[in-house]
Amino acid sequence: MLAKIHQSSQQNGHRCGAGCLHGAHMLTRRRALQIGSAGAALGVAGCITTNRATGRTTLTGFNSLEDDAALGRQEHPKLVAEFGGEYENPRLQSYVEKLGQVLAGYAEYQEFQYKFTIVNSWIVNAFALPGGYVYVSRGLLALASNEAELAGVVGHEIGHVNARHTAQRIAQSQLAQGLLLGAVLVTGQQAIGNIGSGIASSVLKSFSREQEMEADSLGLRYMSRAGYDPEAMVGFLDTLRDHSQVEAEKQGLPKETVDEANINATHPRTIERVRAAESQSAALKAPDQLLNRDRYLDTIDGMIYGDDPKQGLVRGTEFLHPDLRLYFKMPDGFVIRNGATNVVAQKPNVKAIIVFDQAERKTGDVYSYLTQEWAKGTTLSDLGRIDINGLAAATGATRIEGMDYRAVVIQGDGNTVYRFRFISDPSITSQFDVPFRETTYSFRRMSQAEASRIKPFRLIVVPIAPGDTVASLSKGFPEGNFSQAAFRVMNDLKPSQPLPSSGEVKVVVGGTGV
Ligand SMILES: [Zn+2]
Ligand SMILES: [Zn+2]
Repeated sequence: MLAKIHQSSQQNGHRCGAGCLHGAHMLTRRRALQIGSAGAALGVAGCITTNRATGRTTLTGFNSLEDDAALGRQEHPKLVAEFGGEYENPRLQSYVEKLGQVLAGYAEYQEFQYKFTIVNSWIVNAFALPGGYVYVSRGLLALASNEAELAGVVGHEIGHVNARHTAQRIAQSQLAQGLLLGAVLVTGQQAIGNIGSGIASSVLKSFSREQEMEADSLGLRYMSRAGYDPEAMVGFLDTLRDHSQVEAEKQGLPKETVDEANINATHPRTIERVRAAESQSAALKAPDQLLNRDRYLDTIDGMIYGDDPKQGLVRGTEFLHPDLRLYFKMPDGFVIRNGATNVVAQKPNVKAIIVFDQAERKTGDVYSYLTQEWAKGTTLSDLGRIDINGLAAATGATRIEGMDYRAVVIQGDGNTVYRFRFISDPSITSQFDVPFRETTYSFRRMSQAEASRIKPFRLIVVPIAPGDTVASLSKGFPEGNFSQAAFRVMNDLKPSQPLPSSGEVKVVVGGTGV
């Protein structure tokens, strides 16, 4: 991919100076730097430029600004799809776009066409693609309490774009994925063994601590230039920490498992980072800086809280998808994660995982799909046709890379098939024989009436009334024993902090049929 990227940049007209020796791009960085210095000494601009945002001298030979923009443009639709599509809320979308454009107006690279998108994901996250594509999740918008906090997050992402961190990382990871794909083709087990995803995994990889601190500095710069209170960024980092702790407790998972796909994975925070942000924000503090809390709360009022029924809902160990009219139940003790492209259930500290997703079969029926398409090139044992609540299905087992796989394919509408993969360590497979079978046979299609009763939870903003307590205000939250903790995190209240006697708070309503 690196070669391809550079080739296209040559076709588009490379932005390097006239003296650029293109062969230098494939040399080591040190060697290229030497060539660049020689070029500079001769008064010719080489492929080494000073980044206008960070002031750092970098080798830009691999990616021109046009390359950044082209890569962003190419990956944008795929990335949005992997994160659940755009959140269809025109008012909120245009609000985020406007705020983003104000901040981007203070960025160093005005050559980029900045675009801001809300992805329909309840996982708290924010990320960027090269060339000015910035994303915030619905979950992050619900968690923020004022415009300045959101400005800090968006500013940080604009910082990554301007420091050009992401371009470099994607290029590296595409190279790595190319190598990985090569290995998979050799073993022929890509189709059934692969549960990962493409570009999202590279975008979700961590930045280095230095890059994070650089993006923080730039974010603080842009937000304070735009008139926002820079302390809001420090405050939101704190909220994110509280949020991830509640999430970990709620799911009964070790903290690092919870962090895999959220903002803490893409933006690891160290004490050092928070302290640096704190001291920088103190230096940028000025009178009359904005928080814009009222305007922010007015704008998010009414947004969907938790999973969007369009993407399926998790209810304990049950999974319901009213749009697709399907239902199944995972074994006791399994924790479900509803991703954009699959549903994954895992039992903490147990080497067993269940992956559910859907696919289109090209020909034949579920049996030929299983043997000739999905598991093509793999030898299946214990193979057969089964009936699951009146639906044609097929199943087979295999072993891949030391793990037992039980595959189940169920006929959906038209050419759609639904697929379960039950993956377990051979030492415990027999233990899970019955639970896996029960999950398989729990699969059924919902009636239209049943599906139409399911309505999402919504976040609304209400004034605190006399007599309100944390307990009374958290009643509508769907988190069970963790509802009060969720209410506190949503409303910036520390565990022991009393409820203020006035002001507005975010509460949850709705959720019928769930
Ligand atoms: Zn060049
Ligand atoms: Zn970051």
